[in-house]
Parts: sequence; structure tokens; C-alpha cells
Amino acid sequence: MFVVMASAASEAEILGVKSRILAEGLTPFDHAGSDHVVIAVVGEIGSRRPVLIDRLAGLPGVERVTPISRPFKLTSREFHPEDTVIRVLDAAIGDGSLTVMAGPCSVESREQLFETADAVKAAGATILRGGAFKPRTSPYAFQGLGVEALRYLAEARDRTGLPVITEVMEPSQVDIVAEYADILQIGTRNMQNYSLLRDVGRVARPVMLKRGYGATVEEFLMAAEYIVSSGNPNVILCERGIRTFETYTRNTMDLAAVPLLDRLTHLPVIVDPSHATGKRWLVKPLALGGVAVGADGVMVEVHPTPDEALSDAEQQLTLDQFRDMMAAVLPLHAQMRAVYATDRAPAP
Ligand code: PEP
Ligand code: MN
Repeated sequence: MFVVMASAASEAEILGVKSRILAEGLTPFDHAGSDHVVIAVVGEIGSRRPVLIDRLAGLPGVERVTPISRPFKLTSREFHPEDTVIRVLDAAIGDGSLTVMAGPCSVESREQLFETADAVKAAGATILRGGAFKPRTSPYAFQGLGVEALRYLAEARDRTGLPVITEVMEPSQVDIVAEYADILQIGTRNMQNYSLLRDVGRVARPVMLKRGYGATVEEFLMAAEYIVSSGNPNVILCERGIRTFETYTRNTMDLAAVPLLDRLTHLPVIVDPSHATGKRWLVKPLALGGVAVGADGVMVEVHPTPDEALSDAEQQLTLDQFRDMMAAVLPLHAQMRAVYATDRAPAP
């Protein structure tokens, strides 16, 4: 449930509501809506619900108490109707602009990263990606350069001005990755690693959460809820394909999830056609698909010589292919902005 304060409510009245919630053993999360402060009440409410609603509704400065119908609360549009916009360095994610995260699957060397970074920046990328700690299916496959890669990413940020995103695989890596990277990525395999979700919820860096390859949209949002309820409101969702019976593609890209998420949550949504398809030639059409269904951005893997890549060789775009994709995606995004401006999703 959430408490909507009267627009004239005083600071003392807002504090009074929050301390009442704390006294009940629950946690208040507030945000300033267009003209009201709104306070979510989260925790185990159970059978206390009717009594609690009455108690909170009777406090000074309270306009009304409204239930949240979904199991995800802080991430829901019901509680927070306005889009969340995440700002990092000069980039804004979720503000209507197109976010383009591009870079190699794995950082393999300083030269490889710099060459890719310069090229994607020149072609209009807004964020640089690159894996330092790699979750590989085989323990014998390249596992990433680790901290050495983090240093190259920080150098590439200084060189290009682009914020950098990289994956954090376990709680013990959170501090070091947060020290070097601007955005932390949680990979598909870790979407339900709850201790990791809680830990990235405590750092002052935005987090991009990738959808588990076997996760429903609701499980995806509950995972995001772990991060937000741990104190980090800056979460980006990434649809990167789910596992189905299809074998021609690496995963099946769930395009319907994009407008669905837009309706259910205020968090920005990015699509990753590289991991969704696993095939270079399918990346551009699916990037266009993601933009057409209203995604806030795309993440794609780009490598100067993809066939020689140490990971995900088949799905990484060449620098030329990335430029070609951008030439198609940017005008489509401009067109889609006009479509969505007159066709906002109605309230859930
Ligand atoms: C990645 O983006 O580097 C990655 C490993 O993706 P995913 O977790 O979606 O497989
Ligand atoms: Mn990859």
C-alpha cells in the first residue's frame, strides 16, 4: 500500500507518517510525485492490512491510503507513475532519448577496447560496454581479464567521455566494480542471486538487471524490487531473450515484454539483441524491433575482428555493421518518439 500525502502536508506530518510505519515494523519509501509526496509501506503486512489502512488514513496530512495490487511495489507504476530517468555522466536513460550501449563482449586488451570505444562513440553510442568478469558456461573458456579490464574500461571512459557498464558476478566483486564502472550489470544467470541483488542495492551506482533466461516478467520485476528496496532506485531492465524450444537462435527475444514492462513499471527498459539471437545478422533487425516496440535503448556487442573474439564470436558486430545498424536505428527511434508521444500506455 502507499500513503498519498495532501499537497499542503508539512514536513512534520510526512515524518509523522514515516515514524508510524517504522513503529509498525515496516519500511517507508517516499518519493515526490507531481504535487504530492507519496510513501510506500513495504514489509510483511499480512492480516494487519485493514487496521493499518485505518491508522495511517487517520494521521494528519494524509489524503488517502491506496493498496498496490501487484507483488512488486516500489518498481510498480501504481506507486510511481512517472518514468524513472537515470543520469550518469552526460548520459540520460529513460528520458525519451535512445540509449545505445555498445562494446565488446569481453575486454581482451587495451587496444581492442580503445579501438572499439572510439568507433562506437563516433557512430553515436552513449554508453560503453565490456565484460571484465565473464560468466562462461565452460570453466575452461576465457573468464575475462578481471581487474585489468576494469582499469582499461576506466581509461576508455576518460578517453571517450562515455560512461562504462560491466558485469559484477558475485558479492565480493561489488566494491571493486563500483570503484571503476559507472553502471553495474547483473547477468541473466544471476537475476535471482538475492544476496548479490541486495549488495548492488547498497551502492551509489545505477544497476542494469538482465532478465533471467527462465524468468517470467513478474519474477524479473521482483528481482528489480530486491535492488530498489535495498536502497538503490536507479535500476535499468534489460530484455536479453529467454530460453524456448527454438534452436536456430541462442534465445528467443521477448519483444512483448518491452511494452508490458512499460505498463507495469516506471523503470527504463533496454533490449539486447546480441545475446537474444546469438547471430550477428539478426542483431540489426531485432534492434529495430526493440526500438519499434518502445525500448529506451539497445545493448549490442561490437568487436574490431569478431571472428577472433575470445567470447561470443558469432554474435558480435563488426565496426562497420555497428555503423550500419545505427544508421537504421536512429531515424526509426525519431519516428517512434512521435508515435509514442500520442500513444502513452494507459495506467495499469
Ligand atoms: C553480457 O552482457 O556480457 C552477458 C553475459 O549477458 P547475459 O547475462 O545476458 O548472458
Ligand atoms: Mn557476450
